[in-house]
Amino acid sequence: MSKLSLDLILKSQGFGTRKWCRQLISEGDVSIAGETVTDPRAVFETTGLAFTLFDELWVYREHVYIALNKPANYECSRKPSHHPGVLSLLPEQFTWRDVQPVGRLDHDTTGMLLMSDDGTFIHAQSSPKRHVPKIYVATTFDPVTPELVEQLLAGVKLHDEPAKLAALTCRKLDEHQLEILLEQGKYHQVKRMLAAAGNHCTALRRSAMGKLTLDALGLKEGEWCYLDEAQRALLV
Ligand code: URA
Repeated sequence: MSKLSLDLILKSQGFGTRKWCRQLISEGDVSIAGETVTDPRAVFETTGLAFTLFDELWVYREHVYIALNKPANYECSRKPSHHPGVLSLLPEQFTWRDVQPVGRLDHDTTGMLLMSDDGTFIHAQSSPKRHVPKIYVATTFDPVTPELVEQLLAGVKLHDEPAKLAALTCRKLDEHQLEILLEQGKYHQVKRMLAAAGNHCTALRRSAMGKLTLDALGLKEGEWCYLDEAQRALLV
C-alpha cells in the first residue's frame, strides 16, 4: 500500500514530466471514479487505483510486465540503427517508464519478447545462471533430415564456445521447419547451431519461454499484452 499525489501518480505511469502532469490535471483532463480531479496535490492510494485520462481508463501499475509478439524488422536495441526499435510498437508512456526488452531477439526473428521496467525482473530473467527453456521454430534452407535433428540433439561446436551446445528437444515439423528447445541464450544461437550442423536458418520465431506460450497469449504479430503474476510464474 502506498499513497501518492496525483501528479506523481501520472508521472510514475509514464505520462510525462511532473510539470506536464500537473498541467493535465489542472486543465481537468483526469478523473477518478467519475469525478474530475483538478488538484495535482490530491493524494490517492495507488493500489488498484483506476483513473481516466483523455477519456481512456488506466489502472495504476507499480511496474509493467509485457509480452510482445515481435514482428520482423524491429530491433531490440535501445538505440536502434537500421530498423525501428521494438518500443515503437508500444504506447509512448512505456518509453517514459523506461521499459526495456528482457534479453534480445535478432531484428529478423519474430515471436515472444518480454519487456519490463522492473530492473530486478529484467536482471533475474536475463541472468546467465537462469535457464529458462525457450522454444523456437526455425525455417531451414535445406530440408530437415533425421541426421540434422540428431546432430542438434547431440550438440554442435560453435567457434567461440568451449563446449558443444545441444538442443534439449528437437523435432521436425515439416520438410523445412523444425522446433528446437534451448536452455541457453547465446548470441545468434539457433542460427549458428543450424549453420554448424550444415544447414541454414531462413526464418526464426520464438514460440514459448518456459511454460508461457504465444498461442496461449493469443497475440498476433505486433500485438502485446500485460503479464500477470500467474503468467510470470510460468517463466521457469
Ligand atoms: N537464436 C538466434 O539465432 N536468433 C535469435 O534471435 C534468437 C535465438
